[in-house]
Amino acid sequence: MITFRGLFTLGLIYILTLHLSSAKEGMWLPLLLERLNIEDMQENGLRLSAEDIYSVNQACLIDAVVLFGGGCTGELISDKGLLITNHHCGLSRIQLHSTVEKDYLTDGFWAMNRSQELPNPGLEVTFLRRMEDITQKVLQGVTIETDEPERYRIVTENMDKIRADAIDGTNYEAEIKPFYYGNQYFLFVYEVYKDVRLVGAPPSSIGKFGWDTDNWIWPRHTGDFSLFRIYSDENNNPADYSPDNIPYKPRKYLPISLKGIQENDFTMVIGYPGSTYQFLTSCDLRNIVHTSVPSKIKVRTIRMNIMQEEMMKSNEVMIKYASKYSRVTNSWKKWIGMLNGLEKVGALNKKYAFEKTFNEWVNSDEERKRKYGNILDEIELVCDEIDSIILANDYYSEIVMAIEFFDVASELRELVEEYEDETVSPDDFQKSLNSFRNFTGGFYNNYHEPIDRRVFARLMEVYAQDLSVDFQPEIFQKVNTKFNRDFGLFSDWLLQKTILTDEQEMKQLVEEFDKKSVKRIKKDPGYVLFSQFDDLLQEVRFAYAQLEYLLDFYYRIYINGIMEMYPDRVFYPDANLTMRVTYGRIEDYSPRDAVIYDFYTTLGGVMEKEREGVYDYIVPDRLKELYQLKDYGSYGTGGEMPVCFIASNHTSGGNSGSPVLNADGQLIGINFDRNWEGTMSDYMYDPDQCRNIILDVRYVLFIIDKLAGAGYLIDEMTLVY
Ligand code: ASP
Repeated sequence: MITFRGLFTLGLIYILTLHLSSAKEGMWLPLLLERLNIEDMQENGLRLSAEDIYSVNQACLIDAVVLFGGGCTGELISDKGLLITNHHCGLSRIQLHSTVEKDYLTDGFWAMNRSQELPNPGLEVTFLRRMEDITQKVLQGVTIETDEPERYRIVTENMDKIRADAIDGTNYEAEIKPFYYGNQYFLFVYEVYKDVRLVGAPPSSIGKFGWDTDNWIWPRHTGDFSLFRIYSDENNNPADYSPDNIPYKPRKYLPISLKGIQENDFTMVIGYPGSTYQFLTSCDLRNIVHTSVPSKIKVRTIRMNIMQEEMMKSNEVMIKYASKYSRVTNSWKKWIGMLNGLEKVGALNKKYAFEKTFNEWVNSDEERKRKYGNILDEIELVCDEIDSIILANDYYSEIVMAIEFFDVASELRELVEEYEDETVSPDDFQKSLNSFRNFTGGFYNNYHEPIDRRVFARLMEVYAQDLSVDFQPEIFQKVNTKFNRDFGLFSDWLLQKTILTDEQEMKQLVEEFDKKSVKRIKKDPGYVLFSQFDDLLQEVRFAYAQLEYLLDFYYRIYINGIMEMYPDRVFYPDANLTMRVTYGRIEDYSPRDAVIYDFYTTLGGVMEKEREGVYDYIVPDRLKELYQLKDYGSYGTGGEMPVCFIASNHTSGGNSGSPVLNADGQLIGINFDRNWEGTMSDYMYDPDQCRNIILDVRYVLFIIDKLAGAGYLIDEMTLVY
């Protein structure tokens, strides 16, 4: 019988011998390429060594790749710190620099010299300097007798020390991440640059061409890129923004191939995929496809419809909400594709079948029975408990966090707590007050009350309908007693009373923050409602985290079992926002009977999609002109201008902006999306259906050179013909 407390550590994963199941599926750790993948990669066409990709001794490809912000990838394309990523990764920055008068979102932005580049406070890029398998060190002191809480204590202590040692005497940062649910641990040492300036972005009619209609869809014609430049101090080290900083000189930047692409060419992607869940059991997958995702889709649909209606009414609102809307709709659409895809591949049935095989394997041996005998049952028990709170947990993010004025309430709550905390010095409080003022400044600049008002009214109602009374905030009782169960009336009342949505009132309130202000805030119904939600849902979050912790523990055992069951298979670790290399080929696919999607698109397709007056498909005049003249310079081929292509690289969210490289490690494209039929790849990869969507780098150069007239940027790059 396996129990949580008494269980001994089941040891490390087995040393795995090499037999890859598929050349396409998998997100591999750069450090392990030499041992696990390089032969296969070379057999598939790669003309580089593992050291060319990852090395601590010489400049290598990973030196040219960064984590861009908190969730995208970018790559260096010149020796002067020039970096390319997706337009959708730079979008929030482009938006922050945009106004109705200087609308860079609509018109694009091009710095014509360094002094015109725009700083972006808070934006960071992160270089991976080295990584190390530290499993042994992390588990030092853990024995077969160690119970779980003790294991946790030892592991935490060991990790603290390893992290501290790893960066001692440097300006680096260290992070340790568990892999295979804690069967392995890796250390990552990073260098973070903080002065990153906007250099260029095409107009949204190119950078977001097709908008949400085409998002996650192939065939695609989006010029999804933006350019930034990393700056350093005079010694090439990270530094806060200063006009005296100089362009960063990277250890390595990527040469750009103009040789073009062919079907079946080898391709490789290096980047930071966020999360994948290949090992989920049927029970957990069922929770996701039956409960969690459908509810999230429902809530987002409501939100998006309201946002869209309001955005269509005014250009100013359109600018303010472009980036917010994109964030909401991006996952929404992915989830719909994912549910379809999982159903089409019969994911749940595959999981049931696999679990049956696993149990048969376990039950045919006494030792296995002892180690893994009831592991799937244990997982199922936890999973059932999760099922009872999963919706409340999801609604915390999808509803409570979707109400914009709750952001103000949340910040204000911290401020009130500090005010009442006698251990906080007046100076420290003043600092917090100043940062609250800064926060509200930015908040109201990008706030449109009618959207929030309507979203609030609708989502409160959904929340009340879908969740049991255990999860309802107390103030909802008023809806019954005072407002005759009408959430519309309740919302009108609350929004009329709260000052959280009113910039001027908030300004006045925090002008002089004193007892009176605190009293007033604590009576504000918006604040009260947020606080009640927050208390209630913090409990849910806590309970959820406990269950996940327990689940992680059971998965550690389960995966250990799976690896024991297939000793000859190499399992790639799930994505966890650490750097990965993935490889595949340029390939078409058939989404359904009698339909085959070709592997590339051209500018002709942009013109075919153009719809006068339809926002998603506006084509800039200059682009039309270049198309009519066929003025493609050296970037076109055979009278056509390539735009996008697809390949079978296993990618995920976070791979946006990742370099797509040819067999020689030259840049051929920028990864920006996946096809709709393949969005289930985070849970189950299907080599027939899963494709990553890539912006052809020749289209990027064409836009920079011919459309923007910023050819001086191309002079910085190294082009390979
Ligand atoms: N479009 C995705 C992103 O925003 C990339 C992907 O999921 O394939 O990160």
